[in-house]
Amino acid sequence: MQFHLNGFQSGDPLKCKVVTEQSSRKNRCDVIIIGSGPAGLILATQLSAHKEITTRIFEQNFNPLQIGQADGIACRSLEMFEAIGIADEILRESYWVNETCFWKPNEKTGRICRVDRIQDVEDDLSEFPHVILSQARVHDLLLEKMSYGPKPISPEYASQFLHFEMTGEKDYPISAHFLKLEGQKEEVIRTKFLVGCDGARSKVRHSIGQKLSGQSTLQLWGVMDVLAVTDFPDIRLKCAIQTADAGSLLIIPREGGYLVRLYVELGKLASGERGSKRDVTKEMLKKKVKEIFAPYSFECLQIPWFSVYEVGQRLCDHFDNARGNSLANDFPNIFITGDACHTHSPKAGQGMNVSMADSFNLGWKLAAVLKRQSSGQILKTYTEERQTVAKELIDFDRDMAKLFSSKNFRQKGKNQFQTYFQKFGRYTAGVETCYGKSILVLSDEHQSLAVGWKIGMRFHSAPVVRLADAKRVQLGHICEADGRWRIFAFAEKNDCGQDMGVISKLVKFLYNESKSPIQKYTAKGDDCDATIDFRVVFQQRHNELDISKLPSHLLPKKGRFGLIDYEKIFCSDHKTGPDIFDARGIDRNSGALIIVRPDQYVAAMMPLTDWTGVCKFFDGFMIEQT
Ligand SMILES: Cc1cc2nc3c(=O)[nH]c(=O)nc-3n(C[C@H](O)[C@H](O)[C@H](O)COP(=O)(O)OP(=O)(O)OC[C@H]3O[C@@H](n4cnc5c(N)ncnc54)[C@H](O)[C@@H]3O)c2cc1C
Repeated sequence: MQFHLNGFQSGDPLKCKVVTEQSSRKNRCDVIIIGSGPAGLILATQLSAHKEITTRIFEQNFNPLQIGQADGIACRSLEMFEAIGIADEILRESYWVNETCFWKPNEKTGRICRVDRIQDVEDDLSEFPHVILSQARVHDLLLEKMSYGPKPISPEYASQFLHFEMTGEKDYPISAHFLKLEGQKEEVIRTKFLVGCDGARSKVRHSIGQKLSGQSTLQLWGVMDVLAVTDFPDIRLKCAIQTADAGSLLIIPREGGYLVRLYVELGKLASGERGSKRDVTKEMLKKKVKEIFAPYSFECLQIPWFSVYEVGQRLCDHFDNARGNSLANDFPNIFITGDACHTHSPKAGQGMNVSMADSFNLGWKLAAVLKRQSSGQILKTYTEERQTVAKELIDFDRDMAKLFSSKNFRQKGKNQFQTYFQKFGRYTAGVETCYGKSILVLSDEHQSLAVGWKIGMRFHSAPVVRLADAKRVQLGHICEADGRWRIFAFAEKNDCGQDMGVISKLVKFLYNESKSPIQKYTAKGDDCDATIDFRVVFQQRHNELDISKLPSHLLPKKGRFGLIDYEKIFCSDHKTGPDIFDARGIDRNSGALIIVRPDQYVAAMMPLTDWTGVCKFFDGFMIEQT
């Protein structure tokens, strides 16, 4: 973490002091966000990092969420939280899912018994664990973060979105209508972009002519958070329990050491029947839980929250107003994210994670277009990328939910659920997402240069040693959610940055040639890494390289004093396990150049000498700064 660039500042460096005033609540803004669930809050937090962008976020509830809803945070979401700057708090407060147990009835006695205990996340899937924390606490941390970004934002509660119309005005083409629930007054606000993060019953989705389609599995589940006393031995482990006749239950231990969430199978609904009509009470859930746990005791002492859940997997075709809709310009300006475009059963713990990932995909694209760094064409990739991911997840979720409830499956000797669970661990961890070829993701022509980083997938972090201060750091943590692109150059074996070496020539090209993307796309007066941040990783140990002999551009001068940035150069970490070159399969002889998007996905991979390829990639969507 770097600070004091433009002068010494006392106090908490995490709380940005270069604060411009709060996005003023005028009747014109750049982005309107409807809904302050996880999707809306992630988007607002990202946009608060850009002092040039004015955002307003509206929420019909009168207060922030206090309790309940989702709680599973996948490894990939923690990687995203790291980029946003809230991972440490989440890691400190949450329950860590280290192992998962499977319980089944014993064939002879019929009593439930543990049949397996497995590691929850496979080794080196991510540098982060899978954790559990109340959605409300995640909201709190995001609300805090966005309140001290360079452009602070806070939700406007008790404000219900009603409808919008297109104004025909070039700069602010959308006019959105809100009902202020305190006072019942209507407010009309004009905006460039409107994003519906307004949940499963989204009005924005309806307004752009989209609908969620899919089916309910007609399976009803009760979910409750409990403080309980039990002699069940695995109560502090994630467990899937299947009984012979009493149904199934999923235990999710919660943060704080005592609280536990239970998902209880409540049986099939008749076609057309609504779960809410069953009038499920806490008492009914408690009774069911006791039956499933038997012969173990289970005494519920407090139930702070409970709900009834119908398992449904639904998806809409487009997540924006671009296609089949006369409202849009040549690129979309109205979007939907999160539950507004897909719903999942809670079993795979995807709802909150996928919703946040949608917004994380959209936020940097909106910022780049609003800051006139990129053409509006990149906005089309939002639906292309996220609709495909949502479809895959819905299919997976449907199979998983079916399997969990299937009688046949329970009677099988081999535990099919378990095998499936392990196989799809990568899915649930959120690291399987792979974006297809587009203007933002190149083909896999040079994939062999670093086989461990699949083009289109997230940049999987690994440890390296920072040359200037010999600190062991995670390379992926450089990719903060600040809207910047990263170019990583992994040097070939004998390159130590010497004059006329491959790295030295690449550096000269990037910083001196007018056609280089750093030259073309960095605004005049900005630091050299303001738009594209270039970093180098050498294969040598940190004590084998002489920092004073490296190209001077690797120690760029920045800020109003021209202070030197010492954090652009890294070396292999030879102390623990395989170094980054081995861990990520980087060709040691030729090295590799990897371009990483602002949302941490690998956009392109090419030889270190393919400067034309680098230019061509950025020229495909960036706007030259004059
Ligand atoms: C009651 C409930 C229980 C849940 N339980 C679980 C669970 O146990 N496990 C699990 O994994 N997932 C659960 N989920 C799902 C999970 O919470 C969601 O997948 C996740 O919150 C989706 O995030 P989102 O931001 O897309 O939508 P939401 O979290 O639904 O947020 C949408 C927000 O938009 C606001 N809004 C809607 N319409 C308007 C409007 N017209 N104007 C202004 N504001 C509006 C809403 O008030 C809401 O705050 C539950 C969801 C609900 C609603």
